[in-house]
Amino acid sequence: AAKDNGRGCYHFYAEDLHAEAKERRQLEQDLREALVTGGLELHYQPQVALGTQTISGFEALLRWNHPTQGRLSPAKFVAVAEEAGLITQIGEWALRTACHDMAQWGEDVRVAVNVSPLQFANPALPAIVTSALAEAGVASHRLELEITESVFLGDGDATDAMFASLKGIGVRLALDDFGTGYSSLGYLKKAPFDKIKIDQGFVRGATMAGSRNGAIIASIVSLANALDMETTAEGVETMDELDLVHRLGCSHVQGYIFAKPLTAADALELVGKGLSMTPSGPRSARAPRR
Ligand code: C2E
Ligand code: MG
Ligand code: MG
Ligand code: MG
Repeated sequence: AAKDNGRGCYHFYAEDLHAEAKERRQLEQDLREALVTGGLELHYQPQVALGTQTISGFEALLRWNHPTQGRLSPAKFVAVAEEAGLITQIGEWALRTACHDMAQWGEDVRVAVNVSPLQFANPALPAIVTSALAEAGVASHRLELEITESVFLGDGDATDAMFASLKGIGVRLALDDFGTGYSSLGYLKKAPFDKIKIDQGFVRGATMAGSRNGAIIASIVSLANALDMETTAEGVETMDELDLVHRLGCSHVQGYIFAKPLTAADALELVGKGLSMTPSGPRSARAPRR
């Protein structure tokens, strides 16, 4: 009986795997189609400079409304795109679209675009970035590329060359999800980041009694300051969290406390009201228009 049971289990498991692979292939195919038919969108979440309480830029975040499954999280479909070899194409589309949208925001507003480690390993990336900027007619310092620690697991010489090449173009570099990866701190010595983004995992719960997160945030901020880098606290949702990260010295905040990711049209409208930003919305919203 035990043997039977074992075989039955195995059979069941294999069928499960088969169904999963099939689902994945379907998702890949849907994603290919979305790229052609325009099913992908970028939403934009404000990043606020705490010193001036103004919008310094927006992070571009991929959105895909799947024809039958509804809104899928980029955390899920970006991984599918990476495995299917589609992320280079999707990433290029995102870079061009973000630069194009930013062109309407005015000189003082930046856009931050997430770059997958696979894109970062593509020697064509600098040329793609250059042409996206030129096509949109925007200055290179207004584009910030968000990169995760995992790029340091790749070939060291190629990584160094890519950093040098991107810096040569004049784009800004941000280290995303800091503190969640496997890398050592050694790479901070030579990687020319302008900003460290403190992962929301450190912000969440930081205000709870006995939490060690505040101490971790404080030490990331002091490390960043010593290296002349800005710090963005990600995922700030409450007034208490905002007060805390402000007190701990973070220079920027991105989170629901200021705004959720907005459609391109809503981001443009927000910028049109001025760059002042408070937790209750744009400061000039209540003032008469000039
Ligand atoms: P990320 O780059 O760390 O982006 C921040 C994520 O935190 C976004 O999730 C954003 O919507 C969410 N977030 C912002 N503020 C808050 C908050 O106050 N509370 C909570 N709970 N969440 C907040 P999203 O849009 O689901 O994106 C997830 C991840 O997918 C991104 O993490 C990024 O790694 C990846 N991703 C998104 N767009 C792209 C893209 O164009 N290319 C690549 N390669 N990856 C992308
Ligand atoms: Mg990001
Ligand atoms: Mg992040
Ligand atoms: Mg993240």
